[in-house]
Amino acid sequence: MSQRGFPAQVDIAVIGAGAAGIAAARRLAASRRVSVLVLEARERVGGRTWTVDCNELPCDLGGEWLHSADRNVVAGLAKQQGFDIYHRRPDWTTRLRNSGASAAEEADWIAEREAFYWAVHRAARENEDRAAATVLRPGGRWNALFDATSTWANAVELDRLSVQDNNRYEDSGVNWRVCEGYGRLLTRLADSLPVAFGTAVSRIDHRRKAIRLETARGTVTAARAIVALPTSIVAEDLSFDPPLPEKQEAAAGLPLGLADKLFLRFSGQLPGIDSDAHLVGSTRRRETMSYQVRPFGRPVIQCFFGGDFAAGLERDGGMPVMAAFAADELAALYGNDIRRQLTPLAASGWRRDPFARGSYSYARPGHADDRTVLAAPVENRLFFAGEACSPNFFSTVHGAYMTGEAAADAALASLHRLSA
Ligand SMILES: Cc1cc2nc3c(=O)[nH]c(=O)nc-3n(C[C@H](O)[C@H](O)[C@H](O)COP(=O)(O)OP(=O)(O)OC[C@H]3O[C@@H](n4cnc5c(N)ncnc54)[C@H](O)[C@@H]3O)c2cc1C
Repeated sequence: MSQRGFPAQVDIAVIGAGAAGIAAARRLAASRRVSVLVLEARERVGGRTWTVDCNELPCDLGGEWLHSADRNVVAGLAKQQGFDIYHRRPDWTTRLRNSGASAAEEADWIAEREAFYWAVHRAARENEDRAAATVLRPGGRWNALFDATSTWANAVELDRLSVQDNNRYEDSGVNWRVCEGYGRLLTRLADSLPVAFGTAVSRIDHRRKAIRLETARGTVTAARAIVALPTSIVAEDLSFDPPLPEKQEAAAGLPLGLADKLFLRFSGQLPGIDSDAHLVGSTRRRETMSYQVRPFGRPVIQCFFGGDFAAGLERDGGMPVMAAFAADELAALYGNDIRRQLTPLAASGWRRDPFARGSYSYARPGHADDRTVLAAPVENRLFFAGEACSPNFFSTVHGAYMTGEAAADAALASLHRLSA
């Protein structure tokens, strides 16, 4: 349900209608014990999950993979809602063979990658946190690819990534997809929720018993509030009265890195490459893209790229510049004729998006524990959710979802204690 006019007073206000806010609001609504209102800055729900139609093909500009699908709460919801799950696993580990690497090179990359992960794990157990780049072998053959891979997985280069935080991420290695789009699933999950759109919250006044939320469309008061916003917004846009410097510093320690996508129409076939296969543009450059050829068997090449490289492409003009870069890399691998078969369909620009300003959170070295600080409630009245609050599934949709449910449970329990 969308609301243009909204109540001036509710029991619990949820700020943000991304995965975390949707999860919180669903939980609260299901309790039937409280009145709820979701305050959302955009004119849509889903936040950093967003499915758009490209020539009738669903394309996820944000979250796409049901990571750790065998432990992913949202995978169960997708099935309940009648969405189709695509169970084919990605070939991320072995994709080099599709990019022209020899079997020996691929084996070397896989062995080095394993060694790198163990080095991160060992470094994470030291008392002092440090940047993941410090475990790289100086001058190593695969260092540029490690960095590029980090911009896809962590949305940031290794020199800014905390080893302790990275080591806390849990990944069961099972990755599925939603055929209709992850974003569309989140939209369905929000179907009957009371959402006030176009209602950016700018200030949270928690001096008195009733919390006052100042929004672009007037003030709402609530007994409890759940802040389910990206760290960029908590750190820079939101003001709290009284101020909450610990919260805002924790959010700043967990900035959003950048990962972007470009969808190209492509109805041809690449010689020797199966549908759904991944390849990389270059194993020698940090500034390169990962390509998925004909995902789901559809006539598309999906390009994925991140970090400073993606930020530069956004700044330099977005989709046309991204598409020209992708065409150059694919032409270098498969010949110039491929250029004529590529038509840009859609591209993301998450850094420029005013209500995200990035893609997913990473911890700066020394800031792994900021996730706990950010997630902690304030006086049992203000609760925090969102992917960055997850201790082990940060940067994902299901991680965000779980923090939303946890915040809703805590908010309900705090009200229950009052009325008991
Ligand atoms: C390119 C890309 C690829 C990704 N791939 C995957 C993937 O494959 N699998 C996966 O699990 N995850 C993936 N992610 C990450 C995943 O999408 C996010 O971690 C998750 O969606 C975050 O949910 P959230 O609820 O924490 O935040 P958000 O989705 O950002 O929700 C916050 C909401 O708050 C709103 N808002 C902002 N400011 C205000 C304000 N002042 N007042 C009110 N509302 C406000 C926003 O509009 C938004 O709707 C990807 C993300 C990107 C960008």
